[in-house]
Amino acid sequence: MGQNVLTNDFSWSKSRHEKFQDCRRAYYLHYYGSWGGWEDGAHPELRQLWVLKKLANRFNWAGSVVHAAIKDALLEVRAGRRPDGPKAIIRARGIMREDYKHSRGRSYWRERRRLEFMGLMEHEYGEPLPDSEWKRTWDGVESALTWFFQSPWLERARGLEPQQWLEVDEGADHSWFEMDGVKMFAIPDFAFRDQDGHITVVDWKTGTPHAGYEDQVVGYALYLAHRHRVEPQQIRCRLVFLNAGQEVAVPLDAETIQRFSLHFRESVQRMRELLVNAAANTPLDAPQFPMTDDLSQCARCAFRRACGREGVTFASLAPSASAA
Ligand code: SF4
Repeated sequence: MGQNVLTNDFSWSKSRHEKFQDCRRAYYLHYYGSWGGWEDGAHPELRQLWVLKKLANRFNWAGSVVHAAIKDALLEVRAGRRPDGPKAIIRARGIMREDYKHSRGRSYWRERRRLEFMGLMEHEYGEPLPDSEWKRTWDGVESALTWFFQSPWLERARGLEPQQWLEVDEGADHSWFEMDGVKMFAIPDFAFRDQDGHITVVDWKTGTPHAGYEDQVVGYALYLAHRHRVEPQQIRCRLVFLNAGQEVAVPLDAETIQRFSLHFRESVQRMRELLVNAAANTPLDAPQFPMTDDLSQCARCAFRRACGREGVTFASLAPSASAA
């Protein structure tokens, strides 16, 4: 009695929408087919789907290590301490070394090394990557963190009074709200209240700057507006591209927010059309979620094994490979 039972409730996030767009089968396997695979005694097929779902690619992995190191540094500042940049970078390197060894041996099929990391799909699917590519992955992490620790961000954070701190990557249990009765997840990396009462929300980005982040920051703004009782237009959104050392302000106006709301409703409706019971979030059968014909989606997908597309990699899709 009194035990919390996990239920697979319907919710919406930008990443859920993207998976839905990319491949219906991947969406099904991620949100329904692998549900419960973490349980002791789960059926081996279910277990397999859940482990596959948890695999990252090297870019997500690098990004998550950078985000975790920045989160730790901000929490240190919040607690009144001075984070040590070089030590944080050494720690990140140690974590990645151990992750890599764990993943290369595909040990994730036997045990979990740490909560935030299962393994890498590059290892699961035997993708032929030269050592230089793995080194490039680390170099990207090191340069992102080096820039961060030398940037004005820690100083800005140090200047905040305790009541100005709002969020530091709080996680899915905390960062959600309801829109039209649907739970929406939006987990900002860092949010604080400015002197003038406005809120600034910051999203750390690894990799090269490109456009198309509007939806993500509107989601953050709506979440923060809801949680901290301000108008969405009172929220300043900043994207910080750590590897390029660039900061971009994303303006939010009423029209952008209205466009987002429309897009959200359409997306939810299309997802619900594939439910046999919307109240219970019960999906139609798997064949109603077709596999994509776009093999470039498969080349970045964790579920290749479940689809019999283990051999699909970017190398196998390269023009020279198909011409050979
Ligand atoms: S391997 Fe391809 S078809 Fe299968 S779920 Fe992934 S993207 Fe979809």
